[in-house]
Amino acid sequence: MAEVVVIGAGLSGTLMAYELLPQLKKDDRLTVISQGTVYHFVPSNPWVAVGWRKRSDIEIDLADIMKRKGVCLLTQGARRVHPDANRIELGDGSSINYDYLVVATGPELAFDEIPGLGPQGYTQSICHVDHASYAKEAFEKLAAKPGPVVIGAVQGASCFGPAYEFLFILETELRRRKLRDQVPMTFVTSEPYIGHLGLDGVGDTKGLLESEMREKHIKWITNARVDRIEPGKMTVEEFAENGTVHKAHELPFSYSMMLPAFRGVEAVRGIEKLTNPRGFVIVDKHQRNPAFPNVFAVGVCVAIAPVGATPVPVGVPKTGFMIESMVTATALNIGALLRGQAPNAQPTWNAICLADFGDSGVAFLAQPQIPPRNVNWSSKGEWVHYAKVAFEKYFLRKMRRGESEPFYERFVLNQLNIAKIKEVRTDKEVRTGT
Ligand SMILES: Cc1cc2nc3c(=O)[nH]c(=O)nc-3n(C[C@H](O)[C@H](O)[C@H](O)COP(=O)(O)OP(=O)(O)OC[C@H]3O[C@@H](n4cnc5c(N)ncnc54)[C@H](O)[C@@H]3O)c2cc1C
Repeated sequence: MAEVVVIGAGLSGTLMAYELLPQLKKDDRLTVISQGTVYHFVPSNPWVAVGWRKRSDIEIDLADIMKRKGVCLLTQGARRVHPDANRIELGDGSSINYDYLVVATGPELAFDEIPGLGPQGYTQSICHVDHASYAKEAFEKLAAKPGPVVIGAVQGASCFGPAYEFLFILETELRRRKLRDQVPMTFVTSEPYIGHLGLDGVGDTKGLLESEMREKHIKWITNARVDRIEPGKMTVEEFAENGTVHKAHELPFSYSMMLPAFRGVEAVRGIEKLTNPRGFVIVDKHQRNPAFPNVFAVGVCVAIAPVGATPVPVGVPKTGFMIESMVTATALNIGALLRGQAPNAQPTWNAICLADFGDSGVAFLAQPQIPPRNVNWSSKGEWVHYAKVAFEKYFLRKMRRGESEPFYERFVLNQLNIAKIKEVRTDKEVRTGT
């Protein structure tokens, strides 16, 4: 009998549990350690922050679903992983042992790295549904007393898509309320150019996003390092290509939402050979930690090197489909180990993204997500907004049903030639050309 444990019940951890179940033998046990029983669909947070969704619309209670599927759900959280002892210390002081562990803890939000950043300071966040709910209250105050808005992502951030989404969603809502004329808007980003997205762009994201910002009278500052935030004022240094400060800005604001940098969560941060200096879990091509081979990691908690040097640090985003490919590979690899075989599934890390702008949007397809790529495509249109709404409904439905990839989703992805697992040829196949 094997004990398989997943830490985290967000996007990656919940799907991980659903995909691991068919891999288990009759007596194996699957445990998910979460912080509470409620899953919320993070990509809808920007809509919560302008009132287009209530938090209850995007939340699912996992207790019954996990029970129905025979998964043991422990809700006290993991305090510390002890990989040398195959043991996890839980939030209430008790412990649980594992044979195989999947870390799926997402990010810790590093607001403390910049004075005044975050909901405890003077800027809003959309990273968590709680933050999005506070951001909605702050938005109503802005609507009552309009003034300048600053939106963006700080140095070391890796999640740029939601910053652009929120910028354009807020702009759409301000236009609908006929307040846009009273709200000057500035986008502040550590990216070296608009549309870089931590990925050196995808297709023409630079052109598409710049033109959208020009059309909507939104100013921007790239290569930006936020020095500090005080009530109603953000101090920003703009860097030149050669890494020197090119210009200093003092930006007044009535409302600001800035994406923070991420780091690994406390339960794994600082464990030698398991995590990197930022606390992200080190994995090989099978999503497996090289030093502790019974530990895997999926989602935002995984360590990925930046795509290249930039004047201001910029991280690589871990997007939904890319995460799903990590999950599928990990489930297959743990399944192989349980059957006494070597793990050989490799995730593609392909990315399909829909960035909603409220009344239009940008879609991109990056295969693989890290350049150079076999497919590098982006497009703009009203259809993206409707596709994102449809995807939200579809995704929440499959989470409620306890499914990861229904057959019709697999069929569509096959038709579009978008794979989650790399085709790996054995030495014999390479030798014989089969
Ligand atoms: C605002 C926003 C919008 C996004 N929109 C998109 C999008 O449209 N498309 C896209 O492809 N990607 C999007 N992403 C990126 C990505 O898909 C999401 O961040 C996704 O939620 C990441 O999944 P995850 O499982 O790694 O982390 P999370 O979903 O954050 O889940 C991590 C879970 O682990 C739990 N946890 C943490 N520490 C512990 C512990 N010690 N013990 C137990 N549990 C713990 C947390 O409570 C949380 O539930 C978005 C990201 C953000 C922030």
